[in-house]
Amino acid sequence: MGAYAGVDLGATHIRAVIGDADGAIIASHKRDTPRGPTGIDVTEAVLDALRGACEAADVAPSEVVASGIASFGPLDLAGGAVENPANLPDSIDRIPLVGPVENLFDTERVYLHNDANAGVIGERYYADRNPDDMAYLTISSGIGAGVAVDGNVLRGWDGNAGEVGHLTVDPHGFMTCGCGHDGHWEAYCSGENIPDYATRLHREDPVETALPIDTEGFTAADVFEYAGEDEFATHVLEQISHWNAIGVANIVHAYAPLVISVGGAVAINNPDQIIDPIRERLDDMVMSNIPDIQLTTYGDDVVVRGALASALTGGTGDTSSGR
Ligand SMILES: [Zn+2]
Repeated sequence: MGAYAGVDLGATHIRAVIGDADGAIIASHKRDTPRGPTGIDVTEAVLDALRGACEAADVAPSEVVASGIASFGPLDLAGGAVENPANLPDSIDRIPLVGPVENLFDTERVYLHNDANAGVIGERYYADRNPDDMAYLTISSGIGAGVAVDGNVLRGWDGNAGEVGHLTVDPHGFMTCGCGHDGHWEAYCSGENIPDYATRLHREDPVETALPIDTEGFTAADVFEYAGEDEFATHVLEQISHWNAIGVANIVHAYAPLVISVGGAVAINNPDQIIDPIRERLDDMVMSNIPDIQLTTYGDDVVVRGALASALTGGTGDTSSGR
């Protein structure tokens, strides 16, 4: 019986798994992502993680029949590599992935996806009803989505179909996004930007607050911790919920998913404060069917599970095509 592999290349960690033909995980291996010095060092670390998972599963690399790879971007999908990643040092210009993994396992069945697309492939594959229409939304240091419509995982021009973090939610453009444009969703609601947003709101209306505004250690976690107790923190969370609901309503109207599964550290660490307020607001914003909004059941592993699911289904997450 053949084995299947999945690997998730993240900015801080690399996770690799070996699974059986039913998608059950036999063993996993996790290691740090090296900061270079070159892209090849990162490639070697990915191969090392896959070898480690093979060893833990007592499976020889030659027994692996297919592998999925999930990675941060930007991706050169045709070339099977990461190109000029923003979240690693400048000395890393290119991280070859597909070719080296093909060589490791001696198979041409290697599929590369951005992490959000791997997320929707995993959620789809492991969901009870294997829905054709669903989305995976990640709210983390940035915001992005993987979307399946009519059973197809959307990629778009240069793979940018799911860049929902750059949907304009605020036409007044109160906040400027890291991409340089005003009013984009992730400028208000990503883990990276929540402290800046709270600070800007406080500058407009400098009320008394327990939040450590203007201190170096001020993080998104403080906002979630104080919301409900501190009036200003509660106000910030309400604003964040408002923008999140607008973003999700836009996803609903654009793609008509049955289910939106939400992952990413901000959602996973604060599910009640992120997911419930979105659900509460959608009724007043959406003209069509309202999908289930649910927290991912797989936590940090959803992306690597998606990579494995991709290996099992030829890159689709469609269980009727694979197992
Ligand atoms: Zn933007």
